[in-house]
Amino acid sequence: AEAIRYLLDAKSSDEPLRSIGNFIDGKFVDAERQMESEEPATGEIWLKIPRSGQADVDKAVDAAYQAFNSWSETSVSYRSKLLNKVADIVEANLDDIARLESRDQGKTFQMAKSVEVPRCVHNFRTFATAILHHTSPSIMQQDPVQAINFVKNDPIGVAGLISPWNLPLYLISFKLAPALACGNTVVAKPSEMTSATAWVLMHAFVEAGFPPGVVNMVIGTGPEAGEPLVLHPKVPVISFTGSTFVGKRIATLAGQFNKKVSLEMGGKNPGIVFPSVDFNEVIPSLVRSSFANQGEICLCTSRLYVHKGIFKSFVEKYVEETKKWTIGDPTDNTIQVGALVSKAHFDKVSSYVELAKKESCEILCGEVSPEIGGRCSKGYFISPTVILGAKDESRLLKEEIFGPVVCIVPFETSEEVIERANNVPYGLSASVWSKNVDEITKVSSKLRVGTVWCNCWLVRELNMPFGGTKDSGNGRDGTVDSLQFYTEPKTICIKM
Ligand code: NAD
Repeated sequence: AEAIRYLLDAKSSDEPLRSIGNFIDGKFVDAERQMESEEPATGEIWLKIPRSGQADVDKAVDAAYQAFNSWSETSVSYRSKLLNKVADIVEANLDDIARLESRDQGKTFQMAKSVEVPRCVHNFRTFATAILHHTSPSIMQQDPVQAINFVKNDPIGVAGLISPWNLPLYLISFKLAPALACGNTVVAKPSEMTSATAWVLMHAFVEAGFPPGVVNMVIGTGPEAGEPLVLHPKVPVISFTGSTFVGKRIATLAGQFNKKVSLEMGGKNPGIVFPSVDFNEVIPSLVRSSFANQGEICLCTSRLYVHKGIFKSFVEKYVEETKKWTIGDPTDNTIQVGALVSKAHFDKVSSYVELAKKESCEILCGEVSPEIGGRCSKGYFISPTVILGAKDESRLLKEEIFGPVVCIVPFETSEEVIERANNVPYGLSASVWSKNVDEITKVSSKLRVGTVWCNCWLVRELNMPFGGTKDSGNGRDGTVDSLQFYTEPKTICIKM
């Protein structure tokens, strides 16, 4: 609670600015260098954070490496107990952690409070209990000799965990919880854009009683801190969530050393709306699927294919619903859209709105830099933007925008929409909206993505595999899948 207060009370006028450090071998330590962190809703520098490099990463990996033997030999019930304690601590401070996440990332306090922080708690609880029930096959062999075979799932060693800025606490917990539950030690590298809640989480690990060296964190940029972690010879397993560009680079770097790598990368997710659905009923969910968290969720719908027969009335209703989403100070409980994470990201998203204008698309609603006023007058805001008339080959329908921008286009037949939906390099998720079971079955089975939501969006069941195909990633997260990823199955054969 003290750590959270320290950051919540930080002001951009503080001299000197408040600062956070790395977490190595059970201690909070300064990195060799520091850099500044900005509050996206105000555009002001509010915090100094580590700018770690090779030497800081080496220290963190050494601590994790030293701690591995004893941690890997602890009982699963002990590890489960500690992970549950972390969940309890985060839950007890839920509102304040949500406030901090909102400040650091730009998302609304409501989003952090109702989705992100509770899901972090859920991750710790789920893996704390899943590990207790993680079984492995055993076979009594008869031929050519009698033998007992069984599989022992060994922890691998030091896991390098690299996460992005859009759901900072949630995504880092989705890696920390399974990696630690399996008996690995870890070095986490959160995004340099959003490291505040990760720092707070390290305090929760201390309070829960994790031995020094088991959990370590270095904060810094991708090239300066991320790459040394990926390349470190004592880190045999890397779990990465972030952009496709960086994910491919990590795969190339780690491939030279034959490291185990999981990549969760970008998406360009289609929503497909058939005429059988009562669109008045589902439009609120569809609008949420595009604009939740300012559209900064890898699973957000950014291409909406709507059947020609209902297109006009659908679009009217969709825009009407979108206009209900108000934008403003993320701390305001009544708004739905906060600030984009950074100036660079704001520029990127704005460039797609410019592209739409250049390509003579119709922009039905949305504004770049709407008047917010007050303390947020210099923040990075774009209100929910709906675009009509984008061509299939346009970058608007091919590239990940990762902001509050959706393109709506008409389609006529199932075959055609399947082909168009699949015709991008990405394959993360899709949603299908129909009352016709045959239609749902046919379309969902032919979409080349990792998850298809039918008549819903973002309904997550942690026992199901989660991940992407094509340029959206490899590997799957989920209780069974993550426990497999963070362990090495070893077959032991005992002759009778
Ligand atoms: P990013 O790829 O720029 O950065 C992600 C992380 O990788 C950060 O911690 C960053 O510092 C680090 N990094 C950057 N360069 C690196 C390098 N050369 N070596 C090692 N580490 C490096 O992504 P971002 O902008 O932070 O996040 C947005 C992206 O994440 C979007 O593309 C989004 O779709 C994707 N994402 C995917 C999922 C998923 O589950 N598939 C979930 C959330 C976000």
